[in-house]
Amino acid sequence: MAKPLVALLSGAGISTDSGIPDYRGPHGLWRKDPEAEKLVTYEYYMGDPEIRRGAWQLRRKNQALRAEPNAAHLAVAELERSGVPVRVITQNVDGLHQLAGMPARKVLELHGTARSVVCTECRARGSMEDALARVEAGEDDPPCLACGGILKPATVMFGERLDPVVLGDALAITKASQVFIAVGSSLQVQPAAGLAGVAADHGARLIIVNAEPTPYDDRADQVVREPIGTALPALLGALAGEQPG
Ligand code: ZN
Repeated sequence: MAKPLVALLSGAGISTDSGIPDYRGPHGLWRKDPEAEKLVTYEYYMGDPEIRRGAWQLRRKNQALRAEPNAAHLAVAELERSGVPVRVITQNVDGLHQLAGMPARKVLELHGTARSVVCTECRARGSMEDALARVEAGEDDPPCLACGGILKPATVMFGERLDPVVLGDALAITKASQVFIAVGSSLQVQPAAGLAGVAADHGARLIIVNAEPTPYDDRADQVVREPIGTALPALLGALAGEQPG
């Protein structure tokens, strides 16, 4: 008998134990500070070199690239290593699922990744670490080394569309999953939020692990309010134990 596919949708709440605040959510830092939000809004970023210089300085100062995976990320990777088919769909751009040991091909990053940069002209990609080293060395708005175009993080900024390929894959995995676990997501930002409803529509067991109520709680088979760092390892451990074979 094939083991059931577990899809795990993660939001900002899974990374707060790693010291990464919620920037993007409805109550996130960016939404509360219009000036900060401009730094991550495509139109302003592309149109104003001053905004870009400010954004590079902010990236240089914030230590997100140094964050380490926490117990929740490790538990997800552990479940995958135990032989259970696991796919991660994440709203986070921190790359911590992969650092915890999840194979990159099994992680769908709906909002891209802050660990890479991409050229807005030729789409060439590079590492954020290298770009930040150039900022450190004195380039206040480092251009693409291939074509001179404007570089931005490989994240989906406000005003940009999500990658339709990633979104299509996320939808397919959601529909194919027998267990769908939403962790640390307010389930208020589309289209990620809607995936919980799609999972339930397709008969998946829906489990929601989040400190605050979500719009999908009444459709869930199980709602967990305990802290993610302890609740998720316990939940996934139990899940691994009940798998056939
Ligand atoms: Zn380029």
